[in-house]
Amino acid sequence: MNDPEILMDVHNHSNLSPDGSNDPEEMVRRATELGIRYYSLTDHLEINKFYDEEYLYEEPVKRASEISPALIKKYADKINMAYGVELGQPLQDMELTKRMLSSYDYDFIIGSLHMCNGWEDFYLLDYNEVQPEMIMKLYFEEMLEMARWGEFDVLGHLTYPLRYIVGESELYIDMSKYLPIIKEIFSTLIKNDIGIEINSSGLRQKIGLTLPDEYYVRLYKELGGKILTVGSDAHCTQDLGKGIPEAIELARNVGFTELAFFKKRNPTFISIK
Ligand SMILES: [Zn+2]
Ligand SMILES: [Zn+2]
Repeated sequence: MNDPEILMDVHNHSNLSPDGSNDPEEMVRRATELGIRYYSLTDHLEINKFYDEEYLYEEPVKRASEISPALIKKYADKINMAYGVELGQPLQDMELTKRMLSSYDYDFIIGSLHMCNGWEDFYLLDYNEVQPEMIMKLYFEEMLEMARWGEFDVLGHLTYPLRYIVGESELYIDMSKYLPIIKEIFSTLIKNDIGIEINSSGLRQKIGLTLPDEYYVRLYKELGGKILTVGSDAHCTQDLGKGIPEAIELARNVGFTELAFFKKRNPTFISIK
């Protein structure tokens, strides 16, 4: 059962996320069974959707703040666990973002962008109606603003929209035109001591690539990036750890010798040599 290669999986969702299936404890227990050594539950906190009737975040976010620390204690001899969050669209309501970050004592914050300001989530957009080039431009512009703001630890799934534009809708997109802004995003992250993640969820989806793929992880490294995490973005116990060995191999291929694990918003470095 134990797979020594699943060293770390720090991007995961329980049923304290609108799209998660299992209890937080079921997720943690499964992670220990898989032999994962560094782990984090990072349930969604979608800032711009916080007050939507469809799913109210206040209560689950508060419950996570009680459950995660309790699980960290309970499983301390089995797994190194961080109390995390996936903070979506933080710039779209700065007042709320500030209130949330001052209310909760997170170990680890993934900063993500699932929808551009004023637009729906990338998985809901119809790319026959919405120009992929236009929405990608908006996406990277807002991501650059997030990097400048900088109140998070790693940038989530840099190439998230490609999962839908290239993977699901099978459209071609010329990524070379975004290279200057992606370089600027990376340089800004590096200057602010913020890392990136290799999100392995793309490996089990149509796109068949990590988010981001090797090209961008290499670019981040070449620009001086040192802080790298890996996460499966599992939303159920069955997906835990999936694609992590491949993600770690990719990290080694581009020259990373360690991964970062965050506690109290500070990284410690774990060797992958
Ligand atoms: Zn995400
Ligand atoms: Zn996620």
